Amino acid sequence: MSDRPRIGITVLGATGSIGLNTLDVIARHPARYAVIALTANRDVDGMLTLCRVHRPRYAVMADADAAERLVQALRGDALDITVLAGNDGLVHVAGLPEVEYVMAAIVGAAGLAPTLEAARRGKRVLLANKEALVMSGALFMDEVRKSGALLLPIDSEHNAIFQCMPAGFTAGESPAGVRRILLTASGGPFRSTPLEQLAGVTPEQACAHPNWDMGRKISVDSATMMNKGLEVIEACWLFGVPVEQVQVVLHPQSVIHSLVDYADGSVLAQLGNPDMRTPIAHALAWPERIDSGVTPLDLFAVGRLDFSAPDPQRFPCLELAYRAWRQGGTAPAILNAANEVAVQAFLDGALRFDRIATVIETTLAECPVVAADSLQHILDADVYARERAVAQVHGAQRKRMS
Ligand code: NAD
Ligand code: MG
Repeated sequence: MSDRPRIGITVLGATGSIGLNTLDVIARHPARYAVIALTANRDVDGMLTLCRVHRPRYAVMADADAAERLVQALRGDALDITVLAGNDGLVHVAGLPEVEYVMAAIVGAAGLAPTLEAARRGKRVLLANKEALVMSGALFMDEVRKSGALLLPIDSEHNAIFQCMPAGFTAGESPAGVRRILLTASGGPFRSTPLEQLAGVTPEQACAHPNWDMGRKISVDSATMMNKGLEVIEACWLFGVPVEQVQVVLHPQSVIHSLVDYADGSVLAQLGNPDMRTPIAHALAWPERIDSGVTPLDLFAVGRLDFSAPDPQRFPCLELAYRAWRQGGTAPAILNAANEVAVQAFLDGALRFDRIATVIETTLAECPVVAADSLQHILDADVYARERAVAQVHGAQRKRMS
């Protein structure tokens, strides 16, 4: 390993949960990886700390004022770091020639442009930002095929499925002999909360996931199971299977991260402690294996593994995702945009938890669906769906006050 040149990496969304876990794994292998660029939205203090530890060549703040404050904050340090701002800055560092790997860990639609750029430039794309793939699946997979980019999933379920695929499998192919993909889901914090109490749950309760420590948006998505809906769509793109071949399985222990059922009756599973450093280390080192800092799985402590089918009444968002996938075109982008607006409104205290699905359903019904064959069509659908979803949220607020 020692005489290999270090691999240059950009971490998009470096200050987030996946970003920090990625940097934790990278820091365990200083002879193997070099951090070229880090990006964040507004968290200047977080970025400053990361710059001092990881000494990237570029630091990008999506927010222009935050970029200005980072420049000021870095003044006293003898670090040679170029600070960039905005979407152009994010796209620039995703495509740098000295960058071989891009960790796509921005949350939501904001990650689409730089993630697409990494694919276009033929990088090894470590994909955590599932929303980008949900919005632009056909375009994104096309860019991957054209450029020869290596797409490796970070989402724990998809990383597990990838590990259970036949040797030589490439993302987007339809692997021979696969009968079903079994996508596991913990069921989140409200798996057994009485249904009538769901109207009153708070953001803090929704973000307290029983097994995983994640950003707030994906935590709420896990509580509504829209996360699993987005993951079903993600699985269809990554593994080239029809949606009927993807089965969601509730598995509250989050020890089996997903399974692949083969034509001969073999079912392969990937297991591990619920710690994102495992899929991150897998995708960084693939096809080799490196230390991730994750403690070994103690099966005696786990004791038992349970499985059940998700209840559609409890998790209406799951069905909405299936509906959007079947509609095709820009429908998944509309679904995603409406979900982002509704989740933010819930986190801001402006929407009840059980209204998240209502906002998404109404937005899906109100927005015209067109072919998702250009980035412009996708972005237009995103903007219009956000407008409609915001109007829904305001409508719901007015009803609450009257
Ligand atoms: P997070 O909220 O902890 O971090 C998000 C990162 O994106 C931060 O660095 C933030 O600064 C940046 N960001 C936010 N808005 C931005 C904007 N408008 N422009 C540019 N940057 C912006 O989120 P997370 O939990 O790390 O999740 C990141 C992505 O990974 C999501 O797509 C999520 O679905 C996916 N994912 C996360 C986990 C997990 O365990 N956290 C697991 C699987 C998949
Ligand atoms: Mg997941």
